[in-house]
Amino acid sequence: MKCMKCGRDVYQSRNTEAVELENGCLLVIRNIPCQKCRECDEILYTGDVVQQLEQIIAAAARLPQEVMVVNYDRAA
Ligand SMILES: [Zn+2]
Repeated sequence: MKCMKCGRDVYQSRNTEAVELENGCLLVIRNIPCQKCRECDEILYTGDVVQQLEQIIAAAARLPQEVMVVNYDRAA
């Protein structure tokens, strides 16, 4: 895989994302597998990971918590 921004090589890494849901909940997802650019730190996710993130977000949106921290590995 190559960086979509600058075209340099990417390496396997882990990332944390914070998402604000429509119900006002702040969802933090840790340990997300990603590809990271050596040059500009652009983060890329594979299709599988994007789908999994969407499922985690959809599940979190049904819970009445204000702040949630989810570990990708345990949620997957
Ligand atoms: Zn780049």
